[in-house]
Amino acid sequence: MIREELKNLLTSFTEEDYRKNVDLHIHSNESDGKISPCEILETAKKIGMKYISITDHNTMASYKNVEFQHSNIIIPATEFDCIYQGVYIHILAYGIDINNEEIKQIIAKNEAESKCKLTRLFKLRDSKKVIEIIKKAGGISVLAHPACYPVINLELFIKSLIEIGLEGIEVFYPYKRLRSIVKFHKRKTVYNIAKKYNLIMTGGSDFHGKIYSNFSLTNLSI
Ligand SMILES: [Zn+2]
Ligand SMILES: [Zn+2]
Repeated sequence: MIREELKNLLTSFTEEDYRKNVDLHIHSNESDGKISPCEILETAKKIGMKYISITDHNTMASYKNVEFQHSNIIIPATEFDCIYQGVYIHILAYGIDINNEEIKQIIAKNEAESKCKLTRLFKLRDSKKVIEIIKKAGGISVLAHPACYPVINLELFIKSLIEIGLEGIEVFYPYKRLRSIVKFHKRKTVYNIAKKYNLIMTGGSDFHGKIYSNFSLTNLSI
């Protein structure tokens, strides 16, 4: 899919789609999830998902599988560990070419860089560079779970990411589950920022579990 087509597709998804049959944030055991990409794909087909993305940390290992390259319900993606203004953030990359040379340079060099939390923290990527490379590789960059970041002014933080090329933010995701101990920002704040700056709004379950279902999508916005 070419970049503009993908952009139109992502823009066309509504909150309703993300609650029903579109899940653009799923982890498999290629990173810190518990089941294989194939198990996820099989289940997703069975339960009638329209589009899914496996977004393993810093890796696109699932997409080496031929079935994944040809499936018409898959949007290829990954989730990069990055640093921006001293804050540890996750940047989702959709639709990137896995054979792009610059992508190969920022992707995990070994399993630990996808699977081990500590190794990942020592290998944070420069957000500006990552966003530029995603675009050059035909992809779209999206800030994952924006309410999780310990910044005083989320709007200014996102505005400055837009200035370096960020195109979307994740708006529809399980806020409560990802909140951990401290709640930094509200769903409403995230939604309003997306609207104000005309960002692509994406969504997903951030599934890491054993049995994939679209159940977690029903409480996306809580
Ligand atoms: Zn994340
Ligand atoms: Zn994730």
